[in-house]
Amino acid sequence: MIKKDIKNPSKKYTTNYKDIKKYFKYFNKKLFKNKLNKFNDIKIRKMKCSGQCVENISYYKGTSFFVLELKPRYKNRIDFLNTLSHEMLHLWQQTIKHNNGKHNKLFFSFKNKFKKLNLTLSY
Ligand SMILES: [Zn+2]
Repeated sequence: MIKKDIKNPSKKYTTNYKDIKKYFKYFNKKLFKNKLNKFNDIKIRKMKCSGQCVENISYYKGTSFFVLELKPRYKNRIDFLNTLSHEMLHLWQQTIKHNNGKHNKLFFSFKNKFKKLNLTLSY
C-alpha cells in the first residue's frame, strides 16, 4: 500500500464514499484479481463492531443482496483500510467461492497477501 496512506496513526479518519470507492478498486486489483463485484449497497452508520458485510436474502425474489456497513469514524486510516479489506474478503468468500463467509481457513489463507499490502488480517 502507498506509504502516505498509512502515515499519521494518531490522526482520526472520517469515512467517506470517495475513499471507499478508491480503495475498493485498489484492493480488488491487488487481492482479488478484479473478480469482485461491487457491494450492492454501502451504509455508514454507528455500530459496535468495526464493520460488517451483511447478506440480505430475498426468498421471495430468490436474490442475494450484499451490504457493506462501515463506521462514520475510525481510529486512523489504516484501521479503516483493514476493515474495508476484511469486509471485501467476506464478500469474496460469499460471492466468488460460495463459502459461508466465516473466519475460516479460506479467510485466513489471505494472511500473506494482506501482509504484503501492510494490512492486518484479524477476526
Ligand atoms: Zn469478519
